[in-house]
Amino acid sequence: ARVQTALDVMSDGVLLVDANERIVLANAAFCRSMNRAPASLIGMPAGALPWEPGAKSTLPVEWPWRGALEDGEARRDVPISIRPDGETESLEFRVSGSPVLDGWDRAKGAIVNFQDVTLLERQRRELEAALTELEKSRDEIRLQNEELELLAKTDSLTGLANRRTFMAWYDEQFEMSRANHQPLCCLMVDIDFFKRVNDEHGHAMGDEVICRVADVLRDFRGSTDLAGRYGGEEFCMAYLGVDIAAAVETADKIRETIAAPGFARIPVTVSIGVSSTEFGARTPAALLEEADQGLYASKENGRNRVTRFDQIDSLKGSPSA
Ligand code: GH3
Ligand code: MG
Ligand code: MG
Repeated sequence: ARVQTALDVMSDGVLLVDANERIVLANAAFCRSMNRAPASLIGMPAGALPWEPGAKSTLPVEWPWRGALEDGEARRDVPISIRPDGETESLEFRVSGSPVLDGWDRAKGAIVNFQDVTLLERQRRELEAALTELEKSRDEIRLQNEELELLAKTDSLTGLANRRTFMAWYDEQFEMSRANHQPLCCLMVDIDFFKRVNDEHGHAMGDEVICRVADVLRDFRGSTDLAGRYGGEEFCMAYLGVDIAAAVETADKIRETIAAPGFARIPVTVSIGVSSTEFGARTPAALLEEADQGLYASKENGRNRVTRFDQIDSLKGSPSA
């Protein structure tokens, strides 16, 4: 009775079991959480209560009192659940078993302590769920930001870099070209007589042609290069570390690909101007202006052609060159 009174003041549930795991004593806290009268527990095997593995454990669970009885070693904080009589929710415990030894160090019983962590576990799970939610919405926001960023960077019709993005990248390329003493070549590409495409075949066909041309430019940019939609039917490209001869060769391949029969549903040609920092441009804008002058010369000289900035003058008076 004295032990009972002492154990009854404890807030944790406590059981005393004998060598056969039979309950000898159950304190008030244990009886309260089990919805049981002490009398109904005394004499029953501790393992006969409807225990379940706890939230963090899997079967088989070694009942801590059994372990303590078997080898005389204490077991600590084993997660075990139980659904008490008449309750819909399980209680979760951290259960520890300590042996009660006889004079020869053999366990003649065990004292079993039940720390109720139901509330703690529930709070932990709620916290975990909230954290998962938070992570999910953070991932969604990041994805949306990436989409927005992509939208802000690309031209919606062609998917090429828009003018602002292209120019920012182009300025960087110019800086790199200066820093590494590598040539930077700039191409300006403009669709010939495009107004006619719109006028004669409609705006939708015009859009389609713009997209087809954009596809070619995409194919002809290097892995680190960018093609940009500079204006309505005008595009800009740049190649770092490529000399003028190679840039003109690429420009001519672009021109040929587009001019080839069957390229689009209607005949399309482009005019191109090419310049290089090899000709002395000191700013990105100056290099672009030189390429634009080459483009203008291509238009002047019959379109569907490529003109190098340094050869504009030699073309004058020879329109077929
Ligand atoms: P040139 O050979 O000298 O370049 O003549 P062009 O007709 O191609 O040049 P111009 O600058 O006179 O006409 C360009 C036309 O491109 C005018 C404009 O209505 C059209 N345009 C601009 N953006 C778009 C677009 O996004 N879609 C369509 N369908 N047309 C566009
Ligand atoms: Mg045009
Ligand atoms: Mg134009």
